[in-house]
Amino acid sequence: MAQREFCPNDNHGRSVVTVRFCPNCGEIVNGKIPIGTCSEEQHAKRRRTQSAYCVDCGRGLFRAR
Ligand SMILES: [Zn+2]
Ligand SMILES: [Zn+2]
Repeated sequence: MAQREFCPNDNHGRSVVTVRFCPNCGEIVNGKIPIGTCSEEQHAKRRRTQSAYCVDCGRGLFRAR
């Protein structure tokens, strides 16, 4: 088995991606977008949208800090 699971997020197939990181697997989908700086509040909001990773800074939202 490959280490990385198949990611169903459609950011990978798009030609225009407006986020740097994929919210599902945390991979960079658009390296031209600068890494964002987020507050814990923003990450808490993203958790509620069921994102596994922050699309701005790439941090895993459900991992231990
Ligand atoms: Zn992905
Ligand atoms: Zn973030």
